[in-house]
Amino acid sequence: MQKEIELVVLPQIAGDYKQLLSLSAKRTGVSTDRISFLKTIRRSMDARSGKPKINLKLIAYIDESPAEKPFRLNIQDVTNKPEVLVVGSGPAGLFAVLRLLELGLKPILFERGSDVASRTKDLAQLNRNKHFNPESNYCFGEGGAGTFSDGKLYTRSKKRGDTERILRIFRYFGADENILSDAHPHIGTDKLPGIIKNIRSCILDAGGKIYFNHRIDGLIIEDKQVNGLIDHNGTKYPGKYVILATGHSASDVYRFLHSSDVLLEPKPFAMGVRVEHPQSLIDHIQYHGAERGEFLPAASYNLAEQVAGRGVYSFCMCPGGYIVPSSTENETLVVNGMSPAKRNSRFGNSGIVVELHLEDFNEYSEHGIFAGLSYQQSLEHLAYQHVMDGQKAPAQRLADFVSGKDSANLPEISYFPGTVVSDLHNWLPDQIRQRLQQGFRLFEKKMHGFLTNEAVVLGVESRTSSPIRIPRNPVTMEHVQISGLFPAGEGSGYAGGIVSSAIDGENSAQAVFRKISAQ
Ligand SMILES: Cc1cc2nc3c(=O)[nH]c(=O)nc-3n(C[C@H](O)[C@H](O)[C@H](O)COP(=O)(O)OP(=O)(O)OC[C@H]3O[C@@H](n4cnc5c(N)ncnc54)[C@H](O)[C@@H]3O)c2cc1C
Repeated sequence: MQKEIELVVLPQIAGDYKQLLSLSAKRTGVSTDRISFLKTIRRSMDARSGKPKINLKLIAYIDESPAEKPFRLNIQDVTNKPEVLVVGSGPAGLFAVLRLLELGLKPILFERGSDVASRTKDLAQLNRNKHFNPESNYCFGEGGAGTFSDGKLYTRSKKRGDTERILRIFRYFGADENILSDAHPHIGTDKLPGIIKNIRSCILDAGGKIYFNHRIDGLIIEDKQVNGLIDHNGTKYPGKYVILATGHSASDVYRFLHSSDVLLEPKPFAMGVRVEHPQSLIDHIQYHGAERGEFLPAASYNLAEQVAGRGVYSFCMCPGGYIVPSSTENETLVVNGMSPAKRNSRFGNSGIVVELHLEDFNEYSEHGIFAGLSYQQSLEHLAYQHVMDGQKAPAQRLADFVSGKDSANLPEISYFPGTVVSDLHNWLPDQIRQRLQQGFRLFEKKMHGFLTNEAVVLGVESRTSSPIRIPRNPVTMEHVQISGLFPAGEGSGYAGGIVSSAIDGENSAQAVFRKISAQ
């Protein structure tokens, strides 16, 4: 017999199996020795008021053992199967490839960056501010932008597909079991590279092909039909089906698509800064002054306000994490955040960004559909120009930024390449700066102590979502004009974040399969 039980317990009890067993026995009215196993199916925290509590949903197996079938992917040997070209090995590309393997199609995967081990070495150079590689960095390389991240695995959009399946696949390739029950699962930057390596082995073992350090610079299109790809050496790869999963940072891809007359559309997105506080301060605010202790996780926050007709909101908060340089082009500066699995750094950071509409890019209207992209690139370049020292970032104390005062110095922060004191309140565009300043004042009302000079803002957080959409047919998932072209993931403008991009990748593989099967 199985019984579902809901418990609300203190954090120290939530991790103590013996105590949970005894509470569950009381709740179900059976003795503890009749419960063979307690399985957590949902775990969330409630820290809204008073002492933080953990809400647990458990299944008690009474007088029976859990006999669940382990999750498996139905991977086929695709050595001699029809080929599908996939560009980009981020979550969208990799999950598309895995689904192709299940559907009996042979993926040929092209990735401009390096394999994850070489990429790790490139990031070490980058973090020492020694060398920036535009092809192998925090966004480009095996695993895409999600590899060195917090690995947060939640998505607000549950409509597009099976979120649980994506979590099970991550678990299958090595993520911790608890991602299946946590309300806000995350993997951690220290665990992700191993998972990506396991996915690579699976692809190669099944007969798929992977070309690293192969940047795709063009599509071969004849009579509105894709007929292949051209790489950076000019080598051609014939193929009638292309899943284009190049992420939203590959601006060169949008430009080559445009020059090949592939229809693109501009899209609104958001930009701002990354803010970092001592994690102890965030814990103090969110846990209402209580000590975090050893049982509570590093606290996070999720803030949003409307300021002068635009949303100002926190984006990709990384508790116990690090700010990282995530530029993809020379002489530009972009910051983002990541956390290890234990979220145990002394700092907590988050993007704080302002929603921008198409009319906010009017200044760049001569760039046509690339107005937003050009505005984004000019801001990234401006951030670089304020320091001109590799990936060192311009930074200012938060309260100084809000009150428009120069900072005399900066506190210690997590950003490895280093920071330089800068007057962000003077050089950020007014439409972003003013809203950020007001947004921070409003955040302070929700989280007392947030607006402090112990916190620092760094410029710029500019890659929140794609500035361009590659329009596709909602049913066939093909580009609206080009047959055989399947734009997928964040770069298509239809997905955002690891899970939704992975789902989009899977869906695009299925769309290719449907098309091939119908022919
Ligand atoms: C530091 C950081 C932390 C993040 N943290 C989180 C998080 O915790 N949770 C979350 O949900 N999201 C997070 N994100 C966002 C998330 O990583 C992206 O939403 C997700 O990776 C998008 O997946 P994708 O496959 O569509 O694109 P990407 O992951 O961007 O992958 C695109 C791939 O295509 C390759 N590529 C690009 N152009 C070409 C070309 N011309 N030829 C060949 N290959 C090409 C790139 O090298 C890259 O590997 C983070 C992003 C960053 C940068």
